[in-house]
Amino acid sequence: MFSRLVLAGINPVKLQNKTVAILGVGGIGTVIAETLTRVGVGKLVLVDKDLVGPENLNRLGFSPSDIGLPKAEAFAKKLLEFNKTRKHLRLDVEWYHVNIINWPKLDMIIKSADIIVTSFDNLDARLEVNERVVKNRKILVDCGTSLDGWSGRINVVIPGKTPCLACYYDPSMIYGERESWWTAPCGASLPTTMTIVATLASDQVLRILLNLKGVYSRILVSLRNDIIIRPFHMKRRKNCEICGEINE
Ligand SMILES: [Zn+2]
Repeated sequence: MFSRLVLAGINPVKLQNKTVAILGVGGIGTVIAETLTRVGVGKLVLVDKDLVGPENLNRLGFSPSDIGLPKAEAFAKKLLEFNKTRKHLRLDVEWYHVNIINWPKLDMIIKSADIIVTSFDNLDARLEVNERVVKNRKILVDCGTSLDGWSGRINVVIPGKTPCLACYYDPSMIYGERESWWTAPCGASLPTTMTIVATLASDQVLRILLNLKGVYSRILVSLRNDIIIRPFHMKRRKNCEICGEINE
């Protein structure tokens, strides 16, 4: 199964002992989970509070037969099928149908993972995970698309090195700005934008796991009137209430 990866210089054996927790298993999280499965990551933890509905079928991930099932369960079962061909590099998948806000197991999940991916549709859940990731000195790859469906972004949080998510939200901002067009739930969703964002996020996860160059703190994607993909090295906010005290 992995022979063509080896030709690209990627050694799947190096990914066998890695764990990635994917929080939010929608049109972005599913694509990231499947991509990491296909390159040899050894363990995935899938967490999502929602059930699959017909409105989810315009994007990659779920099939009509999944409707009504918890998203995390439906996708975990799909991924475990890969163990039929991953004979020497087994895949372990844990899944939880739960809301992560105030979830007692969240710290344990974060501590056990090499990288945490957030692909939620709301800011509160992202910021909750961000705070715990910084506290535990783990790495967060946060991604999402805009309310109109045409833009997206990926943030890579390496505590002490790159900005945490709270660095981008100064507490003096008024509520209206804080709940910006990035964070509103139930917006439009375009499978094109979501898949591009998910693929760029998967690429960042792989680079981090394999210690490769080309990790950026922020990548912005804009597709409405042109094709614009821009990576940035952003600076941390010095007085950030979450990561300001942390040194590299
Ligand atoms: Zn910060």
